[in-house]
Amino acid sequence: MLVMKFGGTSVGDRERIDTVVALIRSRLDRKPIVVCSAHSGVTDLLLTGARRAAAGKPDLDPIRAREESLLRDLNLSPQLVADDLERLDQMFRGLALLGELTPRSLDQVAAFGERMSVKAIAAVLRKRRIPATAVDADEAGLVTDGRFGRAVPLPEAYPLLKRSLAAVKGVPVVTGFIGRDKDGNVTTLGRSGSDYSATIIGRAVAAEEVEIWTDVSGVLTADPRVVPKARPVEALTYAEASELAYYGAKVIHPATIQPAVEKGIPVRILNTLAPKAPGTVIGPAKGRRTARVTSIASKRGIHLVNVVSGRMLGQPGFMATVFDVFKRHDVSVDLIATSEVSITVSVDDPEGLPRVTADLGELGSVTVREGASLIAVIGERMKEASGLAGQVFTAIGAAGVPVLAISYGATKTNLQIVVPTERDHDVVRALHAELFEQP
Ligand code: ADP
Ligand code: ASP
Ligand code: MG
Repeated sequence: MLVMKFGGTSVGDRERIDTVVALIRSRLDRKPIVVCSAHSGVTDLLLTGARRAAAGKPDLDPIRAREESLLRDLNLSPQLVADDLERLDQMFRGLALLGELTPRSLDQVAAFGERMSVKAIAAVLRKRRIPATAVDADEAGLVTDGRFGRAVPLPEAYPLLKRSLAAVKGVPVVTGFIGRDKDGNVTTLGRSGSDYSATIIGRAVAAEEVEIWTDVSGVLTADPRVVPKARPVEALTYAEASELAYYGAKVIHPATIQPAVEKGIPVRILNTLAPKAPGTVIGPAKGRRTARVTSIASKRGIHLVNVVSGRMLGQPGFMATVFDVFKRHDVSVDLIATSEVSITVSVDDPEGLPRVTADLGELGSVTVREGASLIAVIGERMKEASGLAGQVFTAIGAAGVPVLAISYGATKTNLQIVVPTERDHDVVRALHAELFEQP
């Protein structure tokens, strides 16, 4: 069995959908399960629509227009999504009356993008004589915890999905992005969550492979919008791909790799615009010869929290006390750098930070620096390479950018550098030139 996930751009217009149909047809002997995102732009329209509705301006027109024009292009009847649009219309009116938008309603609204998209794709497949059924993942057993906007599957989701997908007639075309908590509330797995849905389903059915079809020819050595010369990486280990996603490479959702690791399923990133390109294969480290450095990722909106305390000297348990504060306020940290008297950590979600700094103030003097970006140089084989850190810092120095913090852990899969956001792209480009563009 094979899972094929198509992202928003891949199901965004008639031409791409033609390619999607051809790709599915070419793999019918591998019993594909298809996972789809919303048509490109629709999730944004839904989120904006919900916010406007709660502000007293319910307006379904932009969403209706996008869906209906795509259906017309596909020679499908607008009736296909009439019920969904009707329900959305009611929800928008309800939000306008209430005047407030809870995370729960936001997820419920956001889920409609995928619900409508799978109906369209399944209908196109049937029209082209490939038996197919649209499946709502939440109804098919994708049970999650109740964290709206960032839900994760519960263990029972796997056997439930396996059972319900086995009963589907023809090719199952399953909604990405969405699930349902134990109380029946719709939940979403976070932006870009359809990648995660694909590996969750892959794990449930013990798929031979998960293909993630997107608009670039694999994972690239850097974000192509920052480094136009970035090129596809042939192979990545699970650890490298997880770090890359976590540190900001938008190409896959950060949690995508976890379910694949648990069953050792290879994940392949492929390009709907260039289906013959080999793409990137992500798999176990054993026997895999990946490059010394495989990629560079970067993430903005970083806050650097620095705690200076004379009391730290020689005090066992001080670190535990500091991290306990972060834990208590549910604030997760990325980079950690320490000296005898100070500790610096980076945080990418400022919610909860005021409470953290108030508590840390009891332990020492605290400063927070905003406007920073974290850059991660990733490669499991980095540890075998001597002189890499020197190369990295020389390149950053030559670009004239100050380094605010660094961390190079014992496993050395990942060298993290924090720099001011106004120069972060310069640093990514300088590092890319140094590490990937030398003859
Ligand atoms: P999809 O809609 O198919 O899920 P996304 O827009 O979520 O696609 O992800 C693909 C995009 O991720 C690419 O178009 C590219 O701009 C961006 N991206 C950022 N970093 C990388 C990277 N290292 N490799 C490939 N793409 C990247
Ligand atoms: N449609 C959702 C989003 O735009 C999920 C996804 O595309 O993976 O974030
Ligand atoms: Mg995506």
